[in-house]
Amino acid sequence: MADETSKPHTSRWRGDSIFGKIIRKEIPANIIFEDDQCLAFHDICPQAPTHFLVIPKKPIIQLSVTEDDDESLLGHLIIVGKKCASALGLKRGYRMVINEGADGGQTVFHIHLHVLGGRQMKWPPG
Ligand code: 5GP
Repeated sequence: MADETSKPHTSRWRGDSIFGKIIRKEIPANIIFEDDQCLAFHDICPQAPTHFLVIPKKPIIQLSVTEDDDESLLGHLIIVGKKCASALGLKRGYRMVINEGADGGQTVFHIHLHVLGGRQMKWPPG
């Protein structure tokens, strides 16, 4: 039976991504937290001593196509990111980032929240 992430159930669906495979446990990831709405796991190519991603199980491609009824889900990603950051000991702070589209530097087209910490962040980010 097809699950929620393997069928075109919204007008925003344009195909699967590597994160869909991680959600379905078809490829491994170092998972920090999971619930019915989202998954948090360490980034495979960390840009800071701690770098993890929080992704919705709903296959939303990118921030610009989110809709009003995604509001609570997007808020949930941030709250889960905050709790994971605390659980991972990021007491001095951290940065949350969503890269949107080509100019935003997005490379995986399944919306994700980056959480980076464990070093002093710079601004502007480049
Ligand atoms: P983006 O550039 O789209 O904002 O971020 C995509 C992130 O996904 C990158 O930081 C990249 O390292 C991470 N990533 C890509 N493929 C994988 C994977 O297979 N496993 C994990 N854990 N992270 C991945």
